[in-house]
Amino acid sequence: MKPDLFEAPDYYNIDELLTEEHKLVRDAAREWVKRDVSPIIEDYAQKAEFPEQIIGGLAEIGAFGPYIPEEYGGAGLDQISYGLIMQEIERGDSGVRSTASVQSSLVMYPIWKYGTEEQRQKYLPKLASGEWMGCFGLTEPDHGSNPGGMVTNFKNMGDHYLLNGAKMWISNAPFAQVAVVWAKNEEGRIHGLIVERGMEGFSTPETHNKWSLRASATGELIFDNVKVPKENLLPNKSGLGAPLGCLDSARYGIAWGAIGAAMDCYDTALRYSKERTQFGKPIGQFQLQQKKLAEMITEITKAQVLTWRLGVLRNDGKATSAQISMAKRNNVDMAINIAREARQMLGGMGITGEYSIMRHSMNLESVITYEGTHDIHLLITGLDITGLNAFK
Ligand SMILES: Cc1cc2nc3c(=O)[nH]c(=O)nc-3n(C[C@H](O)[C@H](O)[C@H](O)COP(=O)(O)OP(=O)(O)OC[C@H]3O[C@@H](n4cnc5c(N)ncnc54)[C@H](O)[C@@H]3O)c2cc1C
Repeated sequence: MKPDLFEAPDYYNIDELLTEEHKLVRDAAREWVKRDVSPIIEDYAQKAEFPEQIIGGLAEIGAFGPYIPEEYGGAGLDQISYGLIMQEIERGDSGVRSTASVQSSLVMYPIWKYGTEEQRQKYLPKLASGEWMGCFGLTEPDHGSNPGGMVTNFKNMGDHYLLNGAKMWISNAPFAQVAVVWAKNEEGRIHGLIVERGMEGFSTPETHNKWSLRASATGELIFDNVKVPKENLLPNKSGLGAPLGCLDSARYGIAWGAIGAAMDCYDTALRYSKERTQFGKPIGQFQLQQKKLAEMITEITKAQVLTWRLGVLRNDGKATSAQISMAKRNNVDMAINIAREARQMLGGMGITGEYSIMRHSMNLESVITYEGTHDIHLLITGLDITGLNAFK
């Protein structure tokens, strides 16, 4: 892969909206990605392997629980710093950002928000340091966009719960020590349970043959009469709103992350357009190529403003789930379109691993599908503005 020469676009001086702390956090993440992710990531994506050696670095830049209080090992940062970290990591690779998103928003967040003090003390510091990795089991083979239909269930056996069922498409599953699993009790109410590797009847087979998020490990969670201790139930929230609360936090991070992937594709195409000569001039001098670049920076800038504003609303505790859906949907769509245009600007070179664009392009096919598909987020906006529910 070519050396990482990334220069972040900032057409509307968004930096002026950031505090010194935001910029410090962002720049530390950016430097780390350049030093520890860019040189190895193409190789790991080609091998379809998660680079476990970067776990310590992710923890050091605050990517595991950026907004979790310091008393639990988190970085104690605000929502904009959290977003900027996700932006920088996804600038390197969406698969690496997925690992961080799952750890922070889908494992640490529910333990912090819905767990007991004992659960927080037991799990959060180890998850923040990367000593333990976690995964989040919501999706099932027959219930993706409609998780409320889940069939994974647990029975109260007096001194423990008995868990049965299966989850599919679970990021980090093959190596996670801890799984936050959503299952129905005997009354059909959804609860979160903390399942640990090593519990009898619990297995995590890896999913192979992915053309997308190849540097992120994906697997199944299989529960065959797993005895879960009673103290592993998350007691403070139940119902579908509990997992959806975690998804709000993760989707917000994805909205920022997608900007990072788009920035990397734009920056690569811009540089290439000045270096590559055809018909005796740099291809960047052709109007058709300028149109592509001009539209890319316009879309990136719109997404930056939208997402920064969403961060302010999140900091004030005012962002709605529907606002988060809009940003996730818009930004991932923006990034996938930019990746496609940027890929074309590099001609044949664009399909190789010499450049990051094709990898981003393939990765974004998962990002536009997971955490609510593109169409599901549109329906959430539709429901919000009309008050009419297309899901029923
Ligand atoms: C790489 C990867 C990693 C993932 N990681 C995780 C994870 O860590 N944890 C986890 O729990 N899940 C994870 N997922 C699962 C992901 O969230 C689901 O794939 C996603 O929610 C879509 O579910 P599905 O694949 O079953 O598609 P389906 O729900 O079957 O959807 C198929 C199509 O039908 C459309 N559709 C569905 N319902 C409607 C409707 N009402 N109206 C209009 N169109 C509709 C969808 O938009 C989609 O286009 C991951 C997925 C991938 C690909």
